[in-house]
Amino acid sequence: MEPVDLLALIAKETSACTKCDLQYSRKNAVPGAGPQNAEIMFVGEGPGFHENEQGLPFVGPAGKFLDELLEKVGLPRDEVFITNVVKCRPPNNRDPLAEELAACDGFLERQIAAINPKVIVTLGRFSMQKYLPNAKISQAHGQAVRIKGRLVVPFYHPAAALHQPSLRSAVEADFARLPEWIEKAGDVPEYVEEQSHKDDDEQKPEQLSLF
Ligand code: URA
Repeated sequence: MEPVDLLALIAKETSACTKCDLQYSRKNAVPGAGPQNAEIMFVGEGPGFHENEQGLPFVGPAGKFLDELLEKVGLPRDEVFITNVVKCRPPNNRDPLAEELAACDGFLERQIAAINPKVIVTLGRFSMQKYLPNAKISQAHGQAVRIKGRLVVPFYHPAAALHQPSLRSAVEADFARLPEWIEKAGDVPEYVEEQSHKDDDEQKPEQLSLF
């Protein structure tokens, strides 16, 4: 199946999904939007009020700020793919639950496989934790790592800067480096988690191997 058809199929499936309880608070599923051959994929947390109304990602206040940030670095929104770790709105914008993240992950994985982006920018800690479960966003933001061959760059969520104006300059500085990450995507070394000496199956919290 062609990527465009795969994305359409995933979108159709999300709108009828019954894998978790977010189905009950869903007005519209928000599968994501953007071209099927996007080089950059942004992965946010989950739809809010406006996204649930419209079925489109990042169309509320955080989305307006995201648009501004993209414009400043010369990245047209219609050239990037924007999605979320959960495709349906958590009630009252609460954090997504572990079982909701797990239920929705297959959709995101299939979207990534279909689009095959060069760079994945995670927005906020829930999407960062998909790749770096032990990282703290205050330390990891803005630093690219290669995971399974793909460049992953964790950013603060744009809404964080709207709620905490002191984060705004960090958010802007991270976005300002995005063109550089895209250009150097091939040079970033593979991220290696240190193995715990106590138990070979367990991985301990580690320093990021930074570019
Ligand atoms: N916040 C998100 O994480 N995703 C959206 O789509 C909108 C707001």
